[in-house]
Amino acid sequence: MKIAIYPGSFDPVTKGHIDILQTAAGIFDKVIIAVAKNSEKQGFLPVEKRVELIKKSVKDLKNVEVDAFDGLTIYYAREKGAAVLIRGLRAVSDFEYEMQLSQANSALAPEIKTVFLTTKPKYNFISSSTIKEIFLNKGDISKFVPDAVNEYLQKSFEC
Ligand code: ADP
Repeated sequence: MKIAIYPGSFDPVTKGHIDILQTAAGIFDKVIIAVAKNSEKQGFLPVEKRVELIKKSVKDLKNVEVDAFDGLTIYYAREKGAAVLIRGLRAVSDFEYEMQLSQANSALAPEIKTVFLTTKPKYNFISSSTIKEIFLNKGDISKFVPDAVNEYLQKSFEC
């Protein structure tokens, strides 16, 4: 059974993330999408809410699990028995950082391989920070995030 971990902040989860996840779910036996609890970064949404919104957005993907974790991603992946770490690439500018990260991870746990995936072109430019920027300036984010995220944000930030 090939298990893949898809780690990230998912603050909030976007249609870009879901697209990557759908592709991964079609390739691997099980995919765990895991929210990193990064104590240094003050998030937009609490980790528990991010997990809940991901769960609502992936309920049709039967081989996908949602989780949150502390500490190093690669050790979490090892603990879960994962063979693969999934990362997404949007632009050449992502490449250098992701390459370094994958090499550091490979030095720590050589048995776990990083696999890079890309989205459909229409989701390529989407990032959580762009979504936050649009939303906080009262723009329409419905095309870029799953319905659960859009509904939650509209409801919670109504004034
Ligand atoms: P992180 O804080 O680890 O970068 P994110 O939640 O921003 O976490 O993203 C998680 C992963 O998904 C990263 O590998 C990121 O490159 C990838 N990703 C996010 N949005 C897209 C997108 N639109 N296309 C391709 N990959 C994406």
